[in-house]
Amino acid sequence: MKEFGLFIDGEWQAAKGGKTAPTINPATEEPWATVAVADREDVRKAVAAAKKAHDTGVWRNKSPQERGEILQRVAMAIFERQDEVAAAEVQDGGGTMRKAMSMDVPGAAQTFMHFGQFICGDEYKAMIYEEYDETVPIPSKNLVVREPIGVCAGITPWNFPLIMASWKIAPALAAGNCVVLKPASVTPVSSLMLAEICTKAGVPAGVVNVISGPGGTAGEELATHPDIGKGAFTGSTEVGRRIMQLGAGTLKKVTLELGGKSPNIILDDANLDTAALGALFGTFMHQGQICESGTRVLVHEKVHDQFVEKMLAGIKRIQIGDTMDMTTGMGPLVSSSQREAVEKYVGLGQEQGAKLVAGGKRPSSMGKGYYYEPTVFDEVDNKMRIAQEEIFGPVVSVIRYKDDDEAIRIANDSVYGLGGAVWSSNKDRAVAMAKRIETGTVWVNDYHMINLRFPFGGYKQSGVGRELGKWGLAEYHELKHIHVGEDTPPEGKFYLQLLLN
Ligand code: NAD
Repeated sequence: MKEFGLFIDGEWQAAKGGKTAPTINPATEEPWATVAVADREDVRKAVAAAKKAHDTGVWRNKSPQERGEILQRVAMAIFERQDEVAAAEVQDGGGTMRKAMSMDVPGAAQTFMHFGQFICGDEYKAMIYEEYDETVPIPSKNLVVREPIGVCAGITPWNFPLIMASWKIAPALAAGNCVVLKPASVTPVSSLMLAEICTKAGVPAGVVNVISGPGGTAGEELATHPDIGKGAFTGSTEVGRRIMQLGAGTLKKVTLELGGKSPNIILDDANLDTAALGALFGTFMHQGQICESGTRVLVHEKVHDQFVEKMLAGIKRIQIGDTMDMTTGMGPLVSSSQREAVEKYVGLGQEQGAKLVAGGKRPSSMGKGYYYEPTVFDEVDNKMRIAQEEIFGPVVSVIRYKDDDEAIRIANDSVYGLGGAVWSSNKDRAVAMAKRIETGTVWVNDYHMINLRFPFGGYKQSGVGRELGKWGLAEYHELKHIHVGEDTPPEGKFYLQLLLN
């Protein structure tokens, strides 16, 4: 069995209390690695290492060009270890090897490459340094500069551990900060590997620290630690709320990427063949454990029956199976408790009168593993709990509507506001609809196509702030105004008269 420590100050370390925990492969239900478990003292040690690295200036004093080149080397180093990293991602989280090799590993590497290249370019130069000549209130040159915040904490969920760790670490480093990251306890390994990869690629010791440990202790220590300047959290809305409260004690900057119940709207003029398969991809990719999954499929009544028929036909093309087999499209859920939560919601859907038209059970073909069939509820009312609450599993609700206004009303009738889509052969009509949807991302005729160059985040209770692109990068900076006045005799300073006779 593989063993992993905590990665602090550029090296592997045991937890101070010596505690370790197994991590379970959701496809086999067997442990495959053991990982050191951090308690509060280990977190304080990691924060101290990051603070020391920040204070010495070993990272922030490098030019953006130098930092950018190192980040690009990290990207290449991720690819060099892709087999090992992908295998860890699959065994920890239960995603498929097909997804790990085509999404997780390249997605993480591209995140480092993107931010690495961006900070070498002119757009970043213009972003971190602006100059203005002013005459009011007094002649002056005004510099507006963006500087690193200091030590940033990242707290990530179990669904996309490697990509989520990259979304936290790459922009924080790009801006010149140091980082302490705490992955979810059930999926810590790829994040720990990433810290080692960063260090070997040239990120100085102490700049990236990764520690695995429980949210209630290690997570809370990070969320409250006075030396953390910014906390970036991805996870459930419930824990996000708690992190914001905890951060309030020291008024940390907090960005939150939270849950969703995203609407996927099928207009009556959509290409139904593509939209039906797109709706399956939008919900069942990674067993539905994606925050912006299109879990409410809103279908115009004119095309409803035809659309559902196409969806059900498409489901037959999803192969459930061994996660290491490249032909497998769907693996298990992350844990037995996650599967139980899904089963509870499927029961609730039936009790509240939704029509189960596919799935709704564990697949008989899989003897072991936390597998669950892709499940479709038709004739769902948006008031039902399966349409209002995040299930985070392979369950989709199909909701019928009469016209565009009703579709928008249903789409926005949610406490969440993360993602969504509109499918239509008329792009202008679809974009007009997209503008009326209260979510941070809307795709037209596509789903799940997150682009590193553009902002990602939520309206309403789906989040605070944005990640990715120059907008996400801006969140990792402090903004400073430097006023440079003229060197004059006292008569040149009119304001002195406000006090002196
Ligand atoms: P979670 O909220 O249970 O845990 C997320 C992280 O927070 C974990 O590392 C956990 O250990 C830590 N944590 C838990 N309690 C804590 C506390 N009191 N203080 C500090 N840290 C604490 O979420 P999860 O179950 O790991 O992931 C699933 C959730 O994440 C879903 O709601 C999903 O929608 C959301 N998610 C959102 C996005 C997004 O970008 N918006 C992306 C992925 C997942």
